[in-house]
Amino acid sequence: MPAGRFAPSPSGELHLGNLRTAVLAWLFARHTDRRFLLRIEDLDRVRAGSEAEQIRDLEAIGLDWDEAPVRQSERSELYSAAIQKLRQADLLFECFCTRRDIAEAASAPHAVPGHYPGTCLNLSEAKRASLRRERPAALRLRADVENFTVLDGLHGEYRGEVDDFVIVRNDGVAAYNLAVVIDDAGQGIDQVVRGDDLLSSAPRQAYLASLLGYQVPEYLHVPLALNPEGKRLAKRDGAVTLRQLGVEATRQLVFDSLRLPASLDQALQVFDPRTLPREPWIVRG
Ligand code: GLU
Repeated sequence: MPAGRFAPSPSGELHLGNLRTAVLAWLFARHTDRRFLLRIEDLDRVRAGSEAEQIRDLEAIGLDWDEAPVRQSERSELYSAAIQKLRQADLLFECFCTRRDIAEAASAPHAVPGHYPGTCLNLSEAKRASLRRERPAALRLRADVENFTVLDGLHGEYRGEVDDFVIVRNDGVAAYNLAVVIDDAGQGIDQVVRGDDLLSSAPRQAYLASLLGYQVPEYLHVPLALNPEGKRLAKRDGAVTLRQLGVEATRQLVFDSLRLPASLDQALQVFDPRTLPREPWIVRG
């Protein structure tokens, strides 16, 4: 059965912007008779206690989900199987670059900003053997396209860059772009609602999904919450979390910003994606 999802990283407290994205993900899923799932993306930057705190906050604003939340840290076997499949198809290569190597190569005259410059793409076996003694390798995808087009329910057709992005980090852990694709496919998620800061990642993820033979989900990248200076909302922007504002004020602010009644059931009855605000939400914390 088709499903939507919310996939927070337990790296700290959710703020108003995160809660609003979660509400939208729930509304889009329920509005289209989908199941709704929660996935904890804990492969990176985990803060102790944050997962339980995030779940409490999501419940406090009224969200529910149809299965116990899954944690990415418990799904490494699934990622390994996909890595094996990509390796057998000769679609992975070892990359020994540090962040600094990439930044330096990327500032060369003909480099495409943000694009992996191809440094380790064609290393000889001897060179790789010697680099392996210096540092562990990450595994990157040998992408045979430079762009890929996705369909987004709010942004329309979006064509974005695909480079030889990281599939396995150099600490051996699955990279975000791999985990998200495997999990969305494995959990039957065919509707991805998330902040529009991730729109530019969608072409890479959709391309990877298609390489692995998965159906590409429908994307809905929703506007972010910004502070009055136009920067992405952060905790230092004042009273912006449920703990600071209380449940009622938080609900009021989030639902007002969507011009919806402040209860999920009532909001669902009148929810109309066509009237969704398309501008960022400016929060005065
Ligand atoms: N875990 C990511 C975040 O909290 C979201 C990933 C996604 O929705 O695909 O920013």
